[in-house]
Amino acid sequence: MEHKIQLYNTLSRRKEIFEPLNPPHVGLYVCGPTVYGDAHLGHARPAITFDLVFRYMKYLGYKVRYVRNITDVGHLENDSDQGEDKVAKKARLEQLEPMEVVQYYTLRYHKNMEQLNVLPPSIEPHASGHIIEQIELVKRILESGFAYEVNGSVYFDVVKYDAEYNYGKLSGRSIEETLENTRELAGQEEKRNSVDFAIWKKASPEHIMRWPSPWSDGFPGWHVECSAMGCKYLGDTFDIHGGGMDLIFPHHESEIAQSVAANGQDHVRYWMHNNMITIDGQKMGKSLNNFITLNQFFSGEHELLDQPYDPITIRFFILQAHYRSTLDFSNEALKAAEKGLKRLLKAADTLKTIKLSKSSTIEIKTWRNLCYQAMNDDFNSPIAIAHLFDAVRMINSINDGKETINADDLALLQTTYFDFVFTILGLKTDDKSQTDDHHLVEGLMQTILDIRKEAKLKKDWATADKIRDDLGKLNIEVKDTKEGASWSKIE
Ligand code: ZN
Repeated sequence: MEHKIQLYNTLSRRKEIFEPLNPPHVGLYVCGPTVYGDAHLGHARPAITFDLVFRYMKYLGYKVRYVRNITDVGHLENDSDQGEDKVAKKARLEQLEPMEVVQYYTLRYHKNMEQLNVLPPSIEPHASGHIIEQIELVKRILESGFAYEVNGSVYFDVVKYDAEYNYGKLSGRSIEETLENTRELAGQEEKRNSVDFAIWKKASPEHIMRWPSPWSDGFPGWHVECSAMGCKYLGDTFDIHGGGMDLIFPHHESEIAQSVAANGQDHVRYWMHNNMITIDGQKMGKSLNNFITLNQFFSGEHELLDQPYDPITIRFFILQAHYRSTLDFSNEALKAAEKGLKRLLKAADTLKTIKLSKSSTIEIKTWRNLCYQAMNDDFNSPIAIAHLFDAVRMINSINDGKETINADDLALLQTTYFDFVFTILGLKTDDKSQTDDHHLVEGLMQTILDIRKEAKLKKDWATADKIRDDLGKLNIEVKDTKEGASWSKIE
């Protein structure tokens, strides 16, 4: 590999040079959505962050197996062991089969991902399709002595595990802290310690999503699915596990504990976490009414939005911040992103038709290295984008005749610019805005030709001729026919 990537490992809390276990193969696992509602910005950020990782690694020549799961069982309302299953609750409220809810929102999620130009992962396993693997994992944890069964439920013994290993090595929390922060909730009397978590839960009579197991008819705990599916598709130890920072505790911390308890070793070598999104400086929350779905962003139909935003504008906006920084959404910031994106894409068009000279007054190689350096430094997309804007200035200067470029340099500028803008950052001209523009032009031209027709009927030749001549200056040819008038662009 010509390029070495330095990535920030949440586990070691520092940047490390990325060395895959089995180069050029890379195993990448990212926690996907719990499918019980439309995707919002909180879903877009990890999807785009790890799409960037996936795209850049593939671009460098790695063979990446990217696994992003669909959580459709076992994710309870309070993110641990209590409350109703999120999918089952939605199904009950809408009077649907849980799998109808799953199918409906999975399809809508895929559509949103396509709109954001997020590449599909290599494998997208559903938790409900891997109950056998999850039961096997629970069995192994029981055999190793780090879990216990009570009344058909199986709990992970966090205190016993922590005495031997370290429950808290990812989140940096000590077990004392965790114990202090764990509320004693009703219905938890089965647990030996309040920090213990269910890896298999016996289903209550009204619980619809249930499977037979050696312990009870029940369902797996939320953290079990990622350990089970990660191991199944990427091996007992794999390269990168990613997700949002909100998943570090308890989800990923518990995932590590389960895998170590079952296999005697860590299952992940590099943990990567994207930071959170705020809206006008506030955390997203149901009570704040700022849970803006992606579909609402695309249509503009939300009271907090001034206008609709194109999916690629949302993508570009997210890439303008480093994935480990917080990102605040506001209409002003999105409008600025919209403008910036237009400049980048316009320069890509200009670059296709730029004039060649015998010699260059600008240096491309150094600029190109800076673009790679930015991406190699923990996927620093905002710095890479800043270098692309430097290129926009170069491109415009060459186009204005203020600078010159020779054939070799132009070839290098074109490949690098197109690779970064389209292949690595995944930006594109939005098809929708192109068709919108097309409809707009058609409508405007019809209005203009109608006015000209009326002028001719009133024998107002001066107005009719002025319209034809002015359009001619814009390279639009008007032809008078028996039926009226038609227009075409002179290429
Ligand atoms: Zn997960």
